Amino acid sequence: MNKAETSVTTNSSVYDVEKIRSDFPILQTKVHGKPLVYLDNAATSQKPVSVIRKAEEYYSKMNSNIHRGVHALSQVSTEAYEGARIKIKKFINALGKNEIIFTRGTTESINLVAQSYGRANFNEGDEVIISEMEHHSNIVPWQMICEEKGAKLKIIPINDNGEIIFEEYEKLINEKTKFVSIVYASNSLGTVNPVKQIIDLAHQYNIPVLVDAAQAVNHLPIDVQDLHCDFLAFSGHKIYGPTGIGVLYGKVNLLDKMPPYQGGGDMISTVTFEKTTYNELPHKFEAGTPNIGGAIGLGEAIDYVQKIGIENIAAHEKELLDYATEAVTEIPSLKIIGTAKDKVSVLSFVLDDIHPHDIGTMLDFEGVAIRTGHHCTQPVMDRFGIPATSRASFAMYNTKEEIDILIKGLKKIIEVFG
Ligand code: PLP
Repeated sequence: MNKAETSVTTNSSVYDVEKIRSDFPILQTKVHGKPLVYLDNAATSQKPVSVIRKAEEYYSKMNSNIHRGVHALSQVSTEAYEGARIKIKKFINALGKNEIIFTRGTTESINLVAQSYGRANFNEGDEVIISEMEHHSNIVPWQMICEEKGAKLKIIPINDNGEIIFEEYEKLINEKTKFVSIVYASNSLGTVNPVKQIIDLAHQYNIPVLVDAAQAVNHLPIDVQDLHCDFLAFSGHKIYGPTGIGVLYGKVNLLDKMPPYQGGGDMISTVTFEKTTYNELPHKFEAGTPNIGGAIGLGEAIDYVQKIGIENIAAHEKELLDYATEAVTEIPSLKIIGTAKDKVSVLSFVLDDIHPHDIGTMLDFEGVAIRTGHHCTQPVMDRFGIPATSRASFAMYNTKEEIDILIKGLKKIIEVFG
């Protein structure tokens, strides 16, 4: 591979994609005898060797339960776990580390807010606003709590490009609205939403806003103080960290007033059979033994991302998305689903008469991993009148050469299907 072709000049440095690739051992894998071309990053990202080593280091040198132990290992693991919290606080520019709650992932973070904030604050006739492009994990938790409390879910529609229709949002918001929960970047369309404007408008009505940043945190710089979001959720595995660990950011004044989500060890201050008092933030929301190794691994992943620079990653991914978007114009039967002006590196498409499942299976024989299906966004599929799409999603380690292999594979499939 020609290095000059795979390096892009960014604001501050030369982006050396080959060097980055060498940090991800799995990228050397062969699939069906072909080099792996991993374009399923929106589902989960691959892990750099530093994150993999950190997991090994944790289990071989630090493993011990946190917070409660006086012995040396417990102190080491507590320090590493709390150190990861501080890294995340800095990464998203939270005010304090007590605003960072470790969860299993975006899904659990959203469920926490729906079950804790929603149960305490929603009443009959109240309204919760989400959009038509939400992942199921930002739909179902709100449906569940709305059903329980007699509240209503209101949906901001999207246009044919897959962009939120802001005027419709303006029409939906009113004194009955009690909460807005919105995806920052869509996993099935790639659309980046104007979350700051969405938040500003909600705040004019004193309505809190949760931002689902599952597909944003790995592509865009995030500053929760600048966004003014009340809650923000993301998953470690989408940002080159381990699975089973995620984050809920919440403003202290809101988290403080919210009842615990789960009961158990570590979230209490005192327990008697008559009464339990709760621990301070963030521990109030971290019942039981957490994913200690996962949190430490996530801290390591964030170090890695910061070393490369999120702006540099974004510039590289934009170049890949532009290249792929241009390249697929060579295939007249291909239609892109999601043509918003502002997108993260997600390319969803349909090919005339060829089922996405067949596309995914045949590309797999070429070593190319993409995702096919509804991508946990069935309402998006309904909006576009399709059952499924094929989705290629690019990460910091992908190259234009890999996109060429994808395009070649697609052309071959079209030939086979005549
Ligand atoms: N929200 C969005 C936009 C997503 O893309 C995903 C996962 O694909 C989720 C939420 C759920 O993330 P997790 O399964 O890691 O909890």
